Order: sequence, then structure tokens, then C-alpha cells
Amino acid sequence: MPDILRPEDKQAIIQTADSLIEEAVDFLQGMLRIPSVNPPGAAYPECASYIGERLEALGYQVEYIALSAAENAELAPYGEGLPRTNVFGRLPGLPSSPVIHFNGHMDVVPVGMGWSTAPFGGEVRAGRVYGRGAADMKGGIAAQVYAVEAIRRAGLQLQGTVEQSGVVDEESTGNRNAGMGLLVEQGLIAPERTTYIVITEPLNVDNICLGHRGAIWGEIQTFGRQSHGSTPAQGVNALEHMAGFIDEVARCLMPQLRQRQNRYPVVPATANTASLSFNVIQGGTHVNSVPDSCSVAFDRRLVTDETLADARQELWNILEGRAQIVPGFRYEYKERYAAAPTWVSADTPLVQSFTSAIQHILGRTPGYVCSPGTDDQRFVVQNAGIEQCIIYGPGEITQAHIVDESLAIADLLASIKIMAIATAELLGVQKGD
Ligand SMILES: [Zn+2]
Repeated sequence: MPDILRPEDKQAIIQTADSLIEEAVDFLQGMLRIPSVNPPGAAYPECASYIGERLEALGYQVEYIALSAAENAELAPYGEGLPRTNVFGRLPGLPSSPVIHFNGHMDVVPVGMGWSTAPFGGEVRAGRVYGRGAADMKGGIAAQVYAVEAIRRAGLQLQGTVEQSGVVDEESTGNRNAGMGLLVEQGLIAPERTTYIVITEPLNVDNICLGHRGAIWGEIQTFGRQSHGSTPAQGVNALEHMAGFIDEVARCLMPQLRQRQNRYPVVPATANTASLSFNVIQGGTHVNSVPDSCSVAFDRRLVTDETLADARQELWNILEGRAQIVPGFRYEYKERYAAAPTWVSADTPLVQSFTSAIQHILGRTPGYVCSPGTDDQRFVVQNAGIEQCIIYGPGEITQAHIVDESLAIADLLASIKIMAIATAELLGVQKGD
């Protein structure tokens, strides 16, 4: 069980956090100036070195986990061959003490148009830091590093071990990937060596995120037979087959999905049900030819009570049903990405420590929320089998992936205090000399 932190130690940590916020903002600004945009995954080695050098200066043992070109092609198929480099820092505690691992992804989504500030400038304006990745989630990386510093610079010695990682390719997902997925595959994150994991994604400073909905990204293709557009009866129109399928899904399946509520509150609440969306359609070549092929890409989101198998079966049932009754209906179903929903218990020392730290700093009870999209928690919980893994970070979810993305410095500071108090409680501290 976690130790109860003495009130004077708690007070010292809070005061120290106040005194190092400028340094944390400065570290964040430096990170924001490295354009680690994904896709395709630019400037990863620079960003990893930037974090690694800071960790080294703070006394961590640092290693870089990179891929060979062949592994790169396999784990990052859309990465244009650019190097994938992760950074992993370790601050050892007493032997056989608990280990807390803080993780953040270094990649940011493309900038888009219409910014009023330099997207890679790290400008501070009216108490907020601006830049692509300020909220999602370089701000989280700055918070995780300086939360541990708030404990150490308060003159307290951590009894347990702290690990910090900055990983690539969270934004590009994948059933496997070159970032957190790779750390799990290599056994750097494993139940034998990692007690607690905190992923510092932005779900708002007063929420603890215990899981995410599931997702299937796939493609369905219908086939037909070409004929001249003047004699369509001689062909089989693949596009009309697809239109019929989409219409049946819209009439028969989508209303059911909208009825399926997530058991736990999703942030934002508009994502609180299951959903299916057809997002790309391609078919036909010319106005006077009956098309022999049509494809549609779909994005199915699963609430935490659904399974991947059931979600697939629902689509297959409609496709099979149409193959039985619609003359000439032929199809192919393919998936590009599938992630089962993830949810962990709130009844663990990790969640309880964060809950009481949030109460102490913000004076309110945190929400236990579910993320609308999938994230790297799936690798930790589903692949590594570690249950004590939460998402907690300073950013606001509404800031993720938008123009003029920013982070409130007050939230960065609050999260540093919260993570520091929870960490001190989970690992135990002793007064240093
Ligand atoms: Zn993120």
C-alpha cells in the first residue's frame, strides 16, 4: 500500500513545484520548437535527444530505442522510411521497490492552416503556451519530468524507481507500432518490472482517464462487371451495390449503435455511444462505363461493453445477407486497424493516490472518464497485461489537433503538483541529507 505522505512533505513539494514552473515551461517551449510531425514522423531523433539530454542532466540513466530499416518498414509502414527513435530514462530507487513509469508520445499531428501564432514557436501569451503539441502532448511530457523534480528538489529522496519515456507514432496507431508497442514487445514495460504507468495525454487536469473506446478501421469493396454506360443491363454496377449496402447500414445498424451508451462517461460527451462512419468512397472510372469496383473506408467506434468480434459480425451479417438476396452482390472485407476497448479498475493504489492528490490540489473529486479515441494504454493493459495504468495529464482535450493549440500554464503547474504528490505517496519518500 502507498505510504501516507506527511503534510510538511506535501507542502514542500507544492512550494517547490511553484518555484520550477518557469523551467518546466522553458523545457516545453524547446520541445515545441522541434517539428515532430506525424505523418510521416519527422525529427524524431532530435526530439528524443532533446528529452534524453534533459533527463541525463537531471541524473537519469538514458537509453535510446531505435529500429533497423527493416523493422521500420514493418512497424511504421506509413513512415516514409524516416528513423523512429524512442527515449527511455531511469532513476533507480531502492532494490525491489515499486516502479512508476511516466510515458508521453513525442509525435504531433500536422499543423493545418490559419494559425495566429507560429505553430513551432512555443510562444507564451496570456498565461498559455502555444504550439502544435502543447496539449497533445508535449505539455504532458514536461509535466511528468518536472513532477519528479518537484519531489527531488524539495529535498526528498524517492524510495522507488522512476522511469520516463518519450515515444513515437502514437498518432498513427497500428496493431503494432514503433513506439509504446515496441517498448512492450521488447519487455521494457512488463508486469515483472513496472508497477504503475501514467500516460500523460490530455483529458483535462481534473479527470483521471481509465480507458478508451475500441476502434475498427476497415475497407469494404464491392465488385461488379464493366459494361458500356449506354447498356448498363449488360453489366453489374459495383457502385449501386455499395450504395445499397450503405443504405442498409444507415437504416438498420446505425440507429442501434446510437442507442449503445458507454458505461463510463466519455469526454467529450458527444462520443458517448457506439458509432460507424463511412469516410472515404471510391468507385468508377468514367461517366459512360458501368463500374466493376467500389470501395468504402469505414471507422467503427466501440463502447467498452462491445467486443471486436461482435462488431465485425454485425457488418458481416449485413454483407452476407445481401450476398444471399441481391443478385450479383460480391464483396471483400479488410481491416487496417483494430483495437479492443480498454478499461481498468478505479480501485487500485494508483487511481486512489491520483484521486486524493487531485482533491488536495484542486479541491474537487476527479471524474473517472473514458477517452473517445484509442491510445497507447491498449499496449500496456492488453499486450503487457498491466492493470495499473491510467491517463492523466495537464492538457484540455478540446485543444488536441486544433489550430492555435495551447496549454494553460496554470494547468501545467497543477498537474505537476498532482503527479508529484501521487508519485511521492506511491513510491515513498525520505528526508534527504
Ligand atoms: Zn495524444
